[in-house]
Amino acid sequence: MSRNCAIVLAAGKGKRMGESINKQYLHIKGYPVLYYTLKAFTQSDCIDDIILVVADGEDDYCREEIVKKYNFLKVKNVVIGGKERQHSVLNGLRAVTNCDIVLIHDGARPFINESIIQNAVRYANLYGATACGVMPKDTIKMKDASGFSMKSPNREMFFCVQTPQAFRYELILDCHNRINNEDIMVTDDTMVVERYGNKVYLYEGSYNNIKVTTPEDLEIGKQILEKVT
Ligand code: C5P
Repeated sequence: MSRNCAIVLAAGKGKRMGESINKQYLHIKGYPVLYYTLKAFTQSDCIDDIILVVADGEDDYCREEIVKKYNFLKVKNVVIGGKERQHSVLNGLRAVTNCDIVLIHDGARPFINESIIQNAVRYANLYGATACGVMPKDTIKMKDASGFSMKSPNREMFFCVQTPQAFRYELILDCHNRINNEDIMVTDDTMVVERYGNKVYLYEGSYNNIKVTTPEDLEIGKQILEKVT
């Protein structure tokens, strides 16, 4: 059996939320967004350790008000993130010890469930790199720079990728180190391994596994919680 570690990213500024407080600390039904995320990984049978990545200056708050307060014992390390998401991931990866499979997850996706976590571990063991996501529900268009549609590709070919994204640890660490040296910007971790010729197995996540990004998402989050608990 593999040893599995989750890196939970909470070092973003969340500008789209329009609040002064980091979006991961906003409350849904009485608890911070990050509480739900950490609870899911803590309760998961297949996660051994959690590395939490937080913004500079928020580490004490996070240790006291989240990790200690809710007794998240699997959180082995709280590390400071970087300017962009990929820098935060690299800081998290460098803090990992004794791990075969690493799951990288947005702290702002609190509605992750056990079966998605278990499948991440399973497919990362089988294929080396995997990500969950959902099929688009809408018709997809390509548009030109003036805002006019160019064509409507077959949506069966598309996949909206979410997190967790899971990898063999040595593979993702190596690819992140390389992309960091090349100074190339990416928006997720699948792009990092793809750049160096690796394939990523895509599996079904959940439409509930939203990223809390804008104020409306807090309201939607409340409804998801009422449905799933
Ligand atoms: O900004 P965005 O919503 O794409 O961020 C996705 C996740 O990455 C969030 O959980 C956020 O906290 C995290 N992040 C980070 N460090 C950054 C930027 C984003 O940990 N510099």
